[in-house]
Formats: sequence, C-alpha cells, structure tokens
Amino acid sequence: MKTVAVLGGGPGGAFAAEKLSAAGLRVTLFDEKLAWEKPCGGGLTYKAYREYPFLIDNDTPKRLVTETVLTTPGTPPVVLKLHEPLLIYSRLDLNRMLLKRAEHAGARIEKARVLEMSRSSDRWRLRTDAGSVDADFCIVATGARNSLRDVGTRLTAADTMPALGYYVPGDQPQIDLQFIPQLEGYIWVFPRCGHLSIGIAAKNEPASALRKRLEDYMTEKGIHWKGSPFYSHLLPSLQSGSWQTNRVTGEGWMAVGDAAGLVDPVTGEGLYYAIRSADLATRALLSENGGPAGKLQSYHKLLQRDFAADLEIGSRLARRFFLGRFLLGSVPRRMIEFTRHSPRFCAIMQDLFAGTQSYGTLKRRLLRNLNCSLYEIIMSLGMSRVVPGSVRP
Ligand SMILES: Cc1cc2nc3c(=O)[nH]c(=O)nc-3n(C[C@H](O)[C@H](O)[C@H](O)COP(=O)(O)OP(=O)(O)OC[C@H]3O[C@@H](n4cnc5c(N)ncnc54)[C@H](O)[C@@H]3O)c2cc1C
Repeated sequence: MKTVAVLGGGPGGAFAAEKLSAAGLRVTLFDEKLAWEKPCGGGLTYKAYREYPFLIDNDTPKRLVTETVLTTPGTPPVVLKLHEPLLIYSRLDLNRMLLKRAEHAGARIEKARVLEMSRSSDRWRLRTDAGSVDADFCIVATGARNSLRDVGTRLTAADTMPALGYYVPGDQPQIDLQFIPQLEGYIWVFPRCGHLSIGIAAKNEPASALRKRLEDYMTEKGIHWKGSPFYSHLLPSLQSGSWQTNRVTGEGWMAVGDAAGLVDPVTGEGLYYAIRSADLATRALLSENGGPAGKLQSYHKLLQRDFAADLEIGSRLARRFFLGRFLLGSVPRRMIEFTRHSPRFCAIMQDLFAGTQSYGTLKRRLLRNLNCSLYEIIMSLGMSRVVPGSVRP
C-alpha cells in the first residue's frame, strides 16, 4: 500500500491524513468545501486535549469555559464549575488548523467532491468533480451525510437525530444547558469567540418541532436571534443494536468519525471520537502485523477496546437519562438537585463534563455514592433531625 485517499476533510479526515503522511504514505485528502463552518457546537472536552495536547496548545482562536449552568423546569438552575475547561472553537477555525497540520505533514489537499468509488485489481478508482484518481486504500471521513452508499456506516432514521441552531451575536462566560420534559435531547448555549452557538438536538422529534422549541427558548430568554444565521445537520446516535452491525470497514477502506457513526449517544460529542478513531484507524493501517484483512480486524478491536463498547452502553442509557424518573422526579431534575446539594455527585458531574467518567463504570460509581449523596443533600437542606440514621454513610 503506497497511496491513500482520504475522503472528507473534517477533524476525522484531516487527522488521519496528518498521521498517514507523517508515516511516509502518499496521501491525498478530498473535501468538497475544505475548511468551513460545519454545523456544530464546537465543544472539545478535557479528554480530547489531554490525549491530543495540540488541540489546546495552538494560536487558533478558541474559548476556554469553566462554568456550565444546568436548567430544567421545576427546580432552580445550578452552576457546575468545571475542573478542566471545555474548549470551544468555531468549526471554520478548527477545521482550518487541522487541515494545515495535514498539509504540513505532507498530505496533498484537494478541493473536490468524491462522486463515485469503484474497485478493481485491489485498487480504487475515485471519480471526483475534478477528474479521476487511483488509490490503494481509502479512509472514509465524509461525515453523517455520507452519500457514498457502499462505504461507511448505514445510518437508519432511528440511528440519527436532527441537530440545529443559530449563530447569535453576543457573549457570556458560561455554557447553558436546558433540559425539557419529554425531550430526548437538550438545548445548549455555547459562547464562542465573537458569537454564541445556540442549538438543540433530540431524538424522535422532527427538525421543525425542534426549531420551534429552540426559538421559543431564545425568545423566552430575551435572546435576539431573528436574522441570525441558521444551521442544521444530522447527528449520528446509534441505537444499542446498531453498534453490533455497525459497518466501519470493508475491503480496502476504513471509516472514521461520523461516517462510522462514532458519536456519544447521550451528549452528542463527536469531535473527540472523530480524531480518536482516525488515530486508531491509522495505527491499524500502519501496523506491521497482519495482511489487509488483519488490519481491518485490528481497527475493529482497537475501536471496541478504546471507546465503542462504552458508547454502546451510553446508547442504552440515553433514553433513561432524558426521559426516565428517579425518586418521583425526572432524571434531569434530580441530577440538577443532586449537583446543587451533594459535593460527591457534583464531582461525578465534573468528570462527566471532562469526558473522563465512562458509562461502563458510571452506574457503579453512582450507586456507591448514593447513600453519601443523599446524606449530603439532606444535610444541606437542614433536615438532619428528621431523617433516619440509615442514610448516614
Ligand atoms: C448541531 C451539531 C452540534 C454539535 N456539537 C458538537 C460539540 O459541541 N462537540 C462535539 O464534540 N461534537 C459536536 N457535534 C458532532 C461533530 O460535529 C461531529 O461529530 C464531527 O464534525 C465529526 O467529524 P468528521 O470529521 O467525522 O465529519 P465532518 O466534520 O462532518 O466532516 C466531513 C467532511 O467531509 C466532507 N465531505 C462529505 N462528503 C464528501 C464527498 N463526497 N466528497 C468530498 N468531501 C466530502 C464535508 O465537506 C466535511 O468537511 C455536533 C454536531 C451537530 C450536528
């Protein structure tokens, strides 16, 4: 294998192109738009920049946010201090930085749309709107709206959610997250350099209904959104069964990022998983061991071990998180109340926001802390005299 075509120049494609070029392969990256303001909050967790420090150590404009306000009807909002800041980029800036890194590593960057892929004699022929190109291997990084039917995950409607919003002029120091009863998703307000990205993503509701909910929210909050640029896109959100059949490789190709469905089904975080999966795909591809089939298998294994098994657990939790009930109240409401009154629960929330708390160990940690959390809540409410000693940790 000497030449690799990377289809798509978002975070997944750009990072794969950088790594493969740095390893000495001849890489051409195709993107129909190159750097652009892809619809996105642009939020990167601590987990992402701890693993890839260049995401924070650079001159690209970004916001570092250390406070999130969580809100749901029926209880006062709570301010969650973040131990580790969330980074917020404009996607134009983030994509441009990642593409530049790929170019510096030696990748050829071409502005073209890949229209068709065909395979013969173990090679690919790609037809683009600028001509035809041959390649030995393809990295498929075309995002959630991948139009190349024979490669990448096969997203059904149930495996996606609409995500949309507005770029509104304004500034604020904190992130706002709003949970709405009976909505399997949430509204966010992300401060960016020079504007706010305000959006909504949720399952099982049409985009038009979500847009109305978001506009009502902004009007109620006194946010002047009319005339602001609107954005909308698809967010992969695989159901638990779909992780088993998820198509991430095939003969001569590996898919990364949204094109492989690799997004957190609870939070919608996809930037880290795009970069991480690109890293794992290139490791598998560059490995000395195994023939072509072995490399594909190795990518599967790396993905599963690294984060896919955990995201699958997340997909089983998502519905219960947004729509479930606990102690006679909605889960988001109880989460806000526990965050306000229990330092132990607050620490779990901080780790969730940093991306360092896995879904696999979340239940155990919550249960282990439940008695203490309830005790802290009761003490903070000044009710210590009326509760039985059984909740004492
Ligand atoms: C509204 C919204 C908000 C989000 N907020 C966050 C957030 O705050 N934090 C977070 O971590 N994640 C967020 N996500 C998810 C995140 O945006 C994606 O997971 C991430 O962009 C995936 O990166 P990618 O490289 O896989 O795909 P993309 O970023 O979608 O890149 C795909 C690229 O492929 C190109 N392309 C597609 N088809 C072709 C073709 N045929 N030929 C050539 N080029 C092609 C496109 O032009 C595009 O540049 C959000 C998503 C949405 C929709």
